[in-house]
Amino acid sequence: MNIFEESKKFIPGGVNSPVRAYGSVGGDPVIVKSAKGSKIYSEDGKEYIDYVGSWGPMITGHADDDIISEVKRAADMGTSFGAPTKAELDIAKMICDMVPSVEMVRLVSSGTEALMSAIRLARAYTKRDKIIKFEGCYHGHSDSLLVKSGSGLLTFNQPSSPGVPEDFAKHTLIAQFNDIESVKSLIADNKGQIACLLVEPVAGNMGLVLPKEGFLADLRKACDSDGIVLLFDEVITGFRIAKGGSQAYYDVMPDITTMGKIIGGGLPVGAFGGKREIMQMMSPVGPVYQAGTLSGNPLATAAGIAMLKKLSQPDFYKNLKAKSDILYDAMAENCKKLGLNYAYNRVESMACLFFTEGKVESFQDAMKSDTKKYAKFFHEMLNRGINLAPSQFEAMFVSSAHSEEDLEKTAKAHYESLKAL
Ligand code: PMP
Repeated sequence: MNIFEESKKFIPGGVNSPVRAYGSVGGDPVIVKSAKGSKIYSEDGKEYIDYVGSWGPMITGHADDDIISEVKRAADMGTSFGAPTKAELDIAKMICDMVPSVEMVRLVSSGTEALMSAIRLARAYTKRDKIIKFEGCYHGHSDSLLVKSGSGLLTFNQPSSPGVPEDFAKHTLIAQFNDIESVKSLIADNKGQIACLLVEPVAGNMGLVLPKEGFLADLRKACDSDGIVLLFDEVITGFRIAKGGSQAYYDVMPDITTMGKIIGGGLPVGAFGGKREIMQMMSPVGPVYQAGTLSGNPLATAAGIAMLKKLSQPDFYKNLKAKSDILYDAMAENCKKLGLNYAYNRVESMACLFFTEGKVESFQDAMKSDTKKYAKFFHEMLNRGINLAPSQFEAMFVSSAHSEEDLEKTAKAHYESLKAL
């Protein structure tokens, strides 16, 4: 049986999330049977060194023994109660301890939910309707946020979605990443009307675009100038570029932070948190309604706690960076040796090689990439046993489970793949 062909008969496009289909690179996706450490194994018996890491969560590698054993232990005690547990307190304390601006947190089951609820909260707190987001940033698939979005929407060249009523979309104003003037002019034109400015502090859904020096601090100032809630969407960057996320890394404090991916250790979790004064507006203490049958689910919290404990070990991030440097320095060297001047953005364990020359510092820069070339490169890498995201507009992730041998093998495959283009 061809699993993917058969899946397409029962699941739209054969996938439960569009980015999994090889929409922009062509071909049929690898059907994963299992994964362990740095590797994924396909149904047809192939092995790949993986840099997708389930799109970010698997920072300690796949099927991490410490996490799996906690999930098993939790499963034996019951998979869902719909009532408060001690584990929820434990993970909430850990998150508040690790993420500098977060004083209170609520758990949900996905990043989308976290953003959707956080926006409602910001709107209720400010008693305003409008929000500002950046073109090319992705914040999940809720109605207000599917406007000029990144991730799969860019991959499929469809930055907004039908089915979102104009009445919702009109409250979403679009600014340009790394362009503070675009933010200031939206604020000036909509004085006293903007509830929230949301940003991926490091943009990871249009490839990888780093904030320019001072950009995040300027956003903080711009928000303060008009009573706007600053929301950092750290669903990718949280616990990834530093234990405290981008806010710790760049030392700029948002009012609300959304999280996901890594805090679930591979199980479905999202969270939003922030200043006590704002979070106290959530039901049942305050009037802002938000709920979830499986929120704070015991398996997910067990995985999350095990994960956050690992990340709290001394030198975790230092060691992860050292590993990342082995590969990422080699990739830079490969480009140099081959005389290629492609834009190449990196931060800690995240990186993205853009198939365009010059710097990529904006959405427009990222859009100059030759996605056909990326598609060829992707397949060259895959044929050499390296699994990258099937889209130019995603970052790659090194995990602590990648061995030096993995990284060296990947660097060699990278050289050969670029050469083959
Ligand atoms: N925010 C960001 C920055 C993301 O990258 C994503 C998912 N890639 C989301 C929100 C949505 O998270 P989820 O897919 O868990 O709904």
